[in-house]
Amino acid sequence: MSRPVIGVIPLWDEERDSLWMLPGYMDGIEQAGGLPVVLPLSTDRSVLGQVCRLYDGFLFTGGQDIFPGLYGEEKSACCGSICGKRDDMESLLFSRAVIDLNKPAFGICRGIQLFNVLLGGTLNQDLPAQYKGNLPLCHQQEPPYGSPSHQAIIEPGSPLHALLGTDTIAVNSCHHQGIRELSRELVCMAVAEDGLIEAVHMPDRKFVWAVQWHPEYSLHDENSRRLFEAFIEACRS
Ligand code: MN
Repeated sequence: MSRPVIGVIPLWDEERDSLWMLPGYMDGIEQAGGLPVVLPLSTDRSVLGQVCRLYDGFLFTGGQDIFPGLYGEEKSACCGSICGKRDDMESLLFSRAVIDLNKPAFGICRGIQLFNVLLGGTLNQDLPAQYKGNLPLCHQQEPPYGSPSHQAIIEPGSPLHALLGTDTIAVNSCHHQGIRELSRELVCMAVAEDGLIEAVHMPDRKFVWAVQWHPEYSLHDENSRRLFEAFIEACRS
């Protein structure tokens, strides 16, 4: 059986003017039975049109903060660096591949924030400055990033609960932004102990899931591997 081919959004290094990739994204897909390919960071309509048809699914990787103008806000001083090229490319890709063609998509960290913004939700530009949770919780852990940092409380009845068969899991946390208002097209699948949304899905699509944590740093954890496996399984059909 041939492997589903997964388009992986490249990471962008502003200082080096370079595309790059973390091995965990590629390994997670490969170990789950997919064939990962890093995509061009192009906004050419014909290139992206062909990309959308060629690939069986798309991994929306972590990265820079999303330009707050995309959810109608000024960029505040507490917002981090942004990457206009990725904002533009991913907006086009999401619209064509996920909305128009119903291809599976898995979002990680920036990915969950991107899905929420593109579907009408908003973000906290900086959690320490703007988010008052149920209790104080640090979402930006020190290395090693493969170690868990806080709990994710999984919504009973959610597809994530069905997949993992447990009420809570320990997750890592390397983000300073997070969902403020959830898009009406997304449903929460997990929250942190402070109430912050950490996993979502889009119910009327084949597979649009996203998590705020980084399973690509913790492939030794069965829960991380299962997330990649669920994504690749959806890409087979
Ligand atoms: Mn977190």
